Amino acid sequence: MVRRCTRFTYVVVFLMVCAALVSVTNIGQLSVFLRTKLHDVYGSDTGLYSTRFKLRGNLSLEYCQAVPDSLVGRLNIDIDAALQSAPPLEHQDVSPGGVWSPKSCVARQWIAIIIPFRDRQKHLDILVYNLVPVLKRQKVSFRYGNKTFNKGRLMNIGFTEAQKHDEFDCFIFHDVDLIPEDDRNMYTCSDNPRHMSPALDKFNYTMLYKGLVGGVLSFRGKHFTKVNGYSNLFWGWGAEDDDMHKRLFAAKLSVERPSITIGRYKMIKHDRKDVSPVRLDLLKTSIARYLKDGLNTLEYKLVETRLEKLYTRIIANVGDPPKNQTEHPL
Ligand code: UDP
Ligand code: MN
Repeated sequence: MVRRCTRFTYVVVFLMVCAALVSVTNIGQLSVFLRTKLHDVYGSDTGLYSTRFKLRGNLSLEYCQAVPDSLVGRLNIDIDAALQSAPPLEHQDVSPGGVWSPKSCVARQWIAIIIPFRDRQKHLDILVYNLVPVLKRQKVSFRYGNKTFNKGRLMNIGFTEAQKHDEFDCFIFHDVDLIPEDDRNMYTCSDNPRHMSPALDKFNYTMLYKGLVGGVLSFRGKHFTKVNGYSNLFWGWGAEDDDMHKRLFAAKLSVERPSITIGRYKMIKHDRKDVSPVRLDLLKTSIARYLKDGLNTLEYKLVETRLEKLYTRIIANVGDPPKNQTEHPL
């Protein structure tokens, strides 16, 4: 029974932050350069922001800068040290469930970060420890969720549950083991879905293949709905991201990416378990299947929603894989 729970009960973590951080040293010069760079990368990311933050926030405040002066650029991430001693999760200004607002300006977007995870609490702690300061420096507002295998199903649950908590402008689907190495990689949404993690240390900071959208992927809600979310049929490791790439293609959505100097992540080392034997077969039907398999056919049981110090954890049961995986219903 315990084994079963470990295997098929998943967790979603939500962190809600509306951010603004104090300054950092050594910014002036860097931020001018960054601003230019980011405009090159993301094009015009204006006019998309909801007005409700203005309504929620202090009316006398201006919107936060699209690329704030508080960025520091390349970060020095030491994963081995973090694995040795669990990092402290201290952010007094973040309310339970992970809620935080900028004091000096009004955040432009309300973001849900959805992290699928199972049995990797330590990875989650390290990610949250590293990500919260980045989000604060970026002055984005976010909320953040987390779960695991069936990963696609968990992402869909995160998307669905997140919206019961708040209205979001932006959803970021985020592997638990990827730690951002550069805060110029903005945790926001632009006009197109954006694959934020093209350069991993594991692959020498090169993009493995052209259609890669795994790792960290941001979406406007309407775009995620347009592709019908992720497939619910990929059990175990592999290919749900490649299936998503085909969905994006079928829905005629193009994918943006930051440059590989900015879209850099360190991956926390781990074993690979439960490789899906049918993943490549499923990929053959992605385009024909995408409107019949996804958000509109999602089934799960919500087990618990818990307000943690820096995030909201949502535990959901996603059910069991079919006995014979080749006999999927579509
Ligand atoms: N994951 C998890 N527990 C697992 C398997 C996967 O939390 O047992 C989540 C976690 O967010 C992880 C993501 O699914 O980052 C992708 O799985 P994994 O890291 O094993 O695959 P990789 O992308 O490294 O090949
Ligand atoms: Mn991984």
